Amino acid sequence: MNKNQTVKLDYRGRFAPSPTGPLHFGSLVAAMGSYLDAKHYQGKWLVRIEDVDAPRTVSGAADAILHTLEALGMEWDEAVVYQSRRTHLYQRALADLAGQDLIYPCICSRKEIADSSIFGINGPIYPGTCRQIPASPEKAYALRVKTHDGIIQFHDRCQGIYRQVLMRDIGDFVLRRVDGVYAYQLAVVVDDAEQRITDIVRGSDLLDSTPRQIYLQQLLRYATPQYLHLPVVTNAAGEKLSKQTRAAPIDLKTALPLLIDAIRFLGQKTPDEIQDGDIAAFWRWAIQNWRTDLISC
Ligand code: GLU
Repeated sequence: MNKNQTVKLDYRGRFAPSPTGPLHFGSLVAAMGSYLDAKHYQGKWLVRIEDVDAPRTVSGAADAILHTLEALGMEWDEAVVYQSRRTHLYQRALADLAGQDLIYPCICSRKEIADSSIFGINGPIYPGTCRQIPASPEKAYALRVKTHDGIIQFHDRCQGIYRQVLMRDIGDFVLRRVDGVYAYQLAVVVDDAEQRITDIVRGSDLLDSTPRQIYLQQLLRYATPQYLHLPVVTNAAGEKLSKQTRAAPIDLKTALPLLIDAIRFLGQKTPDEIQDGDIAAFWRWAIQNWRTDLISC
């Protein structure tokens, strides 16, 4: 082990892309942050394909993402996990919450909710209509979890203290959609616990989801991992790079310059010679010298 490197016992990190398109510069930054943090602490780095939302999944995208990660020299330590093959785990978690009387069916349409809600940090705050008046079981329904008015707070390794009162800021949120798809918030919590993830490093667009995830961890008696939310890459118009904003796929012909751009985006001070080396030398330097205090959050 190098003198700059530290060991964190049992560190398990992950990169959890949704296969809605190929890897782009924004998702490369998230992958790199989670990879470097895991490897710097001599931990394991896992990849999980978040394809639970079948209607949004693009065929071939998961393989393309995995191929790009491999070609960039980012190797995962355990078999890749696919959420689409794990719905039994999400079902079991829902049954646990149902047993605690913490979920309820909801038949409100998007329009009804939009019309009768105030807007919070993440869209309309569900006013709890179906919590008060039980929904009729004949109609297709979503399942929502009951929230409370206590503070949920955590210390993010990059962003500092972040807190929410779920009932006021988010409202009772959906765990299974009306079309039967398990919600991201539930699936991610179940998988992170089941894969014994200790450290989550991801984009700060997910910062406001974290209190919901910590709340579910508490209800399901799971440990809460450490969080580090990275700055998000935006385009000239200030929009997050994504498939919707037509971010360009990673071009492997320019792999090394892209890796260098990504690590510089993360605030790391790479020596100029790194440009003349190869990908293996890049990772050796990067793993050894990774410093989260240099990231501008
Ligand atoms: N699948 C999510 C995404 O691609 C990331 C989930 C996570 O890292 O918690 O935005």
